[in-house]
Amino acid sequence: MNLIDISIIVPLYNEEDVFETLIQRLTQVIDTAKFQCEVVLINDGSTDNTAELINQICRKDNRFSGVLLSRNHGHQLAVSAGLSYSRGKKGAMIIDGDLQDPPELINEFYNLLIDGYDVVYAIRKNRKESFFKKSAYSVYYRLQKKISSFNIPIDSGDFSMLSRRVVDTIVSMPEQSRYLRGMRAWVGYKQIGFEYDRDERHAGETKYSWSKLFELAFNGIFNFSDFPVKIITRLGFFTVLFSLIYFLYNIYRKIYYDDVPQGFTATILAIILFSGVQMISLGLIGEYVLRIYNQVRNRPLFVVDKIIQDGLDK
Ligand code: UDP
Ligand code: MG
Repeated sequence: MNLIDISIIVPLYNEEDVFETLIQRLTQVIDTAKFQCEVVLINDGSTDNTAELINQICRKDNRFSGVLLSRNHGHQLAVSAGLSYSRGKKGAMIIDGDLQDPPELINEFYNLLIDGYDVVYAIRKNRKESFFKKSAYSVYYRLQKKISSFNIPIDSGDFSMLSRRVVDTIVSMPEQSRYLRGMRAWVGYKQIGFEYDRDERHAGETKYSWSKLFELAFNGIFNFSDFPVKIITRLGFFTVLFSLIYFLYNIYRKIYYDDVPQGFTATILAIILFSGVQMISLGLIGEYVLRIYNQVRNRPLFVVDKIIQDGLDK
């Protein structure tokens, strides 16, 4: 019988330097927790000794299990793999392998889960990162909040605890480009933020290259917002309107001052007007692309919280 309450999902990419401390901290946590835990360690195609270390611990302590991916798939897919293989009946907690997210918070998260929240996401009170990276994150999160079709909380990463039904819903979303913190928000139900201080990486260096970070940021924008497509149409209409104003202004100058150069106005007008028309056309095509994208992404149409039939909760 499955007695596991919570699965702790830990993606690992070349983390041999932190591994020992990580296992110590996790063992301490699952030894003292008042509920049953399993730890799912995902090796994301590490080129160092991480896979072997996972192998060893899983054979020594059967509360640890390992999912070894065939090559580096990236953090979001590694976590997705972990979620697919998680067995916790109550749900799963996602943490980083570098101990930036203290695993000890599991108890607080769990209490909130038991209180009826389906998602407990951690909010970073302060980041110990370079000024540039911090500002970039701050701008990005605020931009994303402005343009996404629903509320994705600011300053929260993947560190979170999800109820079983949220895990199942996320696993059932087959989209290829995954942005978990958005998918998690998309699922809905009762969600709550939990503020914490983000620690510094315990050892080693960040495994998120700038290009991986940009890819993640792009997924966050394009998977959860129609804004980039809609803005083209709007700009198109604005440009056409502008060309009309430009046209009227030039007629006025012509009649009252007669200082409009011959031929020039018509050329400029044609350029502006037809740029606008092209933008509107692109926007229209974009609308169809958007619909195709939404269709092929094949997300569930809706997520049900509760059904009441024949006077009873189903
Ligand atoms: N990670 C991964 N695959 C990757 C990149 C990172 O599994 O391609 C893991 C990494 O081992 C760590 C977590 O994802 O456990 C977060 O990565 P990192 O700490 O390097 O990111 P940062 O905290 O710098 O944003
Ligand atoms: Mg980190």
